[in-house]
Parts: sequence; C-alpha cells; structure tokens
Amino acid sequence: SFTPSLLPKLIETVTETIIKNAGEITALDQAIGDGDHVTNLQRGLTALMAQRSEISQLDWPAAWQKIGMTVMTSVGGASGSLYGTLFVAMSKSAAGKDLNVQSVAEAFAQAVEAVKHRGKSDVGEKTMLDVLVPVAKHLQDAAAVSLPLSALLEQTKQVAITGMESTRDMLATKGRASFLGERTRGHIDAGAMSSQLVICALVDVLL
Ligand code: ADP
Ligand code: MG
Ligand code: MG
Repeated sequence: SFTPSLLPKLIETVTETIIKNAGEITALDQAIGDGDHVTNLQRGLTALMAQRSEISQLDWPAAWQKIGMTVMTSVGGASGSLYGTLFVAMSKSAAGKDLNVQSVAEAFAQAVEAVKHRGKSDVGEKTMLDVLVPVAKHLQDAAAVSLPLSALLEQTKQVAITGMESTRDMLATKGRASFLGERTRGHIDAGAMSSQLVICALVDVLL
C-alpha cells in the first residue's frame, strides 16, 4: 500500500521529470519571470534526494513536515515558501488522523488554502494555484463519491494539465510576472507547469 517507503521513488521520479522539462520551464520563467524556477526547484530536489532514505522511515505527517521544511530552507524564490507551506500545512492537517483517500484529500485541500493565504492569491492569477486548487477540488469530489483510486488518479493528471493550460491566456496579478501586465498573456506560468509535472509524476508512481 501507499507507505512512505515510496518516497525515494517519488522524489527520484519528480527529479527526473523536472530535469527532462528543464528547458521548457526555464523558457517560461524567462518569458515572464526571472528564469530561475528550475534552479530553485533543483536545489530543493537535491536536498530531498540526500534525505530520501531518512524520510522514508517516517510516517506520512512527519515526512511531509520534513519535506516542507527542507523545501522552505533550500528552494528560495517565491516558489520555495509556497511549496514548503503546502507540505507543512498538509502535515499539520493530517497529523493524528487515520489516513485514507478522504482524509488525504481534505489535508491537501487545507494545504492549498494555506498556500493561498501565504501568497495572498487565488485561482485566476496565473500561478501554481491554477493547478493546485482544481486538483484539490477534484480529489475531494472524487473521494466523496468513492471513485476507484485508479480513476481518481488518472483524472487528477487531466485536471492538472487543464489547470496549467488555463494559465496561458491569464493576466498575471501575483508574483514577478505581474510586473509585465498584458505581456504575460500567451505564456503558461512556470509554477503552474512545475506543479502539473510534479503531480503527474507522483500519480505515475502511485498508479
Ligand atoms: P521567483 O518568482 O521568486 O523567482 P520562482 O521562479 O521559483 O520564484 O517561482 C515562480 C512561481 O511561483 C510563479 O511561476 C508562480 O507560479 C508562483 N508564485 C509566485 N508568486 C505567487 C503567489 N503570490 N501566489 C501563488 N503562487 C505564486
Ligand atoms: Mg523565478
Ligand atoms: Mg527568483
């Protein structure tokens, strides 16, 4: 079943997908940001790779807490505190609970709320939240109707891709891209792309 013993494989797969798509993500952050998003993520992934066997010995809430702290302290940039917040909040929300699809979906939804709060932002502002918010809603809806796990996971990938694509025509109103105003239209947001890639990589390991 889904124990933290999966974490080394999850971290390795996420690292591979970021490396594989590094050129495209960097081009997006160069177009409407400062071009460092991949470098920022890779600092975090290198730190997580070094801790992966240690983290795999923990329970999920403790693992999420450690991942969040590592991401916050190593990633830097806007994305570091936001992705870090996501994992720390997920840990807080899940601590002491019996973990199942429903409680994990609930913890993820609360974690996405924490990211919104931290970034003072919401869907429609051309950020990672345009992926995270619809994915959180999908997980809760699917858990509520007890959708079979394989269908839930397959649909999660599609929801993440649709969310990422939705940022293309948006006007950025948060983060660095907001300084460029109308020039941001026509480019996918780099953080929306990285969160889509991370989510799809995690799903592929779990499927
Ligand atoms: P920086 O912008 O500091 O260089 P990164 O390049 O690592 O940091 O990350 C940029 C990404 O962070 C953006 O593409 C966007 O998805 C996300 N982001 C930036 N500001 C916010 C915010 N206020 N709320 C949500 N996401 C944000
Ligand atoms: Mg950047
Ligand atoms: Mg930067």
